[in-house]
Amino acid sequence: MQPLRLIVIGNGVAGITAARTVRALRQDAEITVISDESPYFYARTALMWVYMRQLSRAALEPFERRLWREERLELVHDRVVALDVARRTVTLESGATRSYDRLLLATGAEPARFGWPGQELSGVQHFCTLSDLAALEALRPRVERAVVVGGGLIGIELVELLLHDRVAVTYLIREPWYWDLVLSRDEAGLVHTLLREHGVELLLEDLPEELLGDDRGQVRELVTRAGRRLPCQLVGLATGVRPRIALAQAAGLPCGQGILVDRTLRTSVPEVYAAGDCAEIALEPDGRTLVQKLWYTAQRQGEAVGRVLAGLDAPYDPGVPYGSAQFLFCDYLTVGWFPHAPYPPAAELLGRATAPRTVAELALREHVVRSPRTRASARIAYLENQQVLGFSLLGARWNAALLMRWIRERRPLPWVLEHLEEARFDEEFRRPPFPEGTSRA
Ligand SMILES: Cc1cc2nc3c(=O)[nH]c(=O)nc-3n(C[C@H](O)[C@H](O)[C@H](O)COP(=O)(O)OP(=O)(O)OC[C@H]3O[C@@H](n4cnc5c(N)ncnc54)[C@H](O)[C@@H]3O)c2cc1C
Repeated sequence: MQPLRLIVIGNGVAGITAARTVRALRQDAEITVISDESPYFYARTALMWVYMRQLSRAALEPFERRLWREERLELVHDRVVALDVARRTVTLESGATRSYDRLLLATGAEPARFGWPGQELSGVQHFCTLSDLAALEALRPRVERAVVVGGGLIGIELVELLLHDRVAVTYLIREPWYWDLVLSRDEAGLVHTLLREHGVELLLEDLPEELLGDDRGQVRELVTRAGRRLPCQLVGLATGVRPRIALAQAAGLPCGQGILVDRTLRTSVPEVYAAGDCAEIALEPDGRTLVQKLWYTAQRQGEAVGRVLAGLDAPYDPGVPYGSAQFLFCDYLTVGWFPHAPYPPAAELLGRATAPRTVAELALREHVVRSPRTRASARIAYLENQQVLGFSLLGARWNAALLMRWIRERRPLPWVLEHLEEARFDEEFRRPPFPEGTSRA
């Protein structure tokens, strides 16, 4: 058998997980990972801890560098500037051309841009890459006032790391409450309280109109749509990311929001695959698609595509939705389904013959419990027959694996309420049970 020549573009969690999965299954494969941002795989999710000097840059790398030699993974630090899917070659910025038998695009995501005037001024910063981290560190000495734009996870990370530097922060959010796609108004209320307690000026339902600079091209003021004038030396833009697809588009690969793939993460072009933040997965024949932009989903897709690249034909299973975060040291965990979930549960999870087509069909109800002594809350989504399908948990630490198991075991709401305390993770701070409950359809 000829050795398989695999090229992976992108050394993020999707690309590296795929490469390592292929290596575990195919000793004969010649695997090359080409990436432009960093010579070695690093944990993007930990960038903020480096800025806050709680982690060294070296600690960003999850694996020792000898692993790449031991697993015979060739790492190339370069940019792929063109794909020729007919000739099965990739062209690098350095001028070299490489041939492949199979190609994986794991090119990640890039900041969404809204074209606000002044967005290119110095001092206007995204926070997604190692070079963003370096740019923020360089700005650090002269920033006293900052405006952060965008009510999502990266926005609040930016707020937190600026507070760490004792910068006066204004937080501008377009929506009526923080992370309205995921958090309930009540949950966001706690986050608003925490922000204000930390001295953040929180401005809701407003967005930038233009950014003004000084004569050196340095941002000096942000003017909002509502006419507020916010003097600042830094504007942090955290207004979402979108799949990085320019390379795929230029090569003629079908793209929607992301690079279009089927459930086996194959594009419609022979021997070309995509996984991670850059991929848009067709879930059903009816055309519904899924773009996932999280660490664990990129890893899960990397494993799935690695198996397919190695010759095992198993489709990607998105599993039970999951997400965790910290808002100014306040823990947040969501497991399972809520009305905003991007795909419905599998039929077997519901004990039905066929899966629902949308999450809306489930007509989920919600039960909320609050701890009166702490500010913790638990929002539980359930079906009319009482089967619990989701947990949204704020202000305490919880055992996600156990909650996921309860969902898979199809536990009813009364049982879950009785056992909820068992899923508390912070044993050392074990508190009295959550006594206050409210339900709503
Ligand atoms: C600040 C921050 C915090 C985050 N925190 C969390 C979190 O707490 N939890 C969570 O679940 N998710 C979090 N995420 C999201 C998570 O990091 C991503 O979903 C995940 O890293 C995506 O992995 P990926 O492998 O698909 O892409 P990426 O990690 O983006 O890797 C893709 C790589 O490919 C390279 N590349 C692209 N095009 C080319 C080319 N033409 N040539 C060569 N190389 C190329 C890119 O430069 C990049 O290095 C966070 C993201 C950021 C930015």
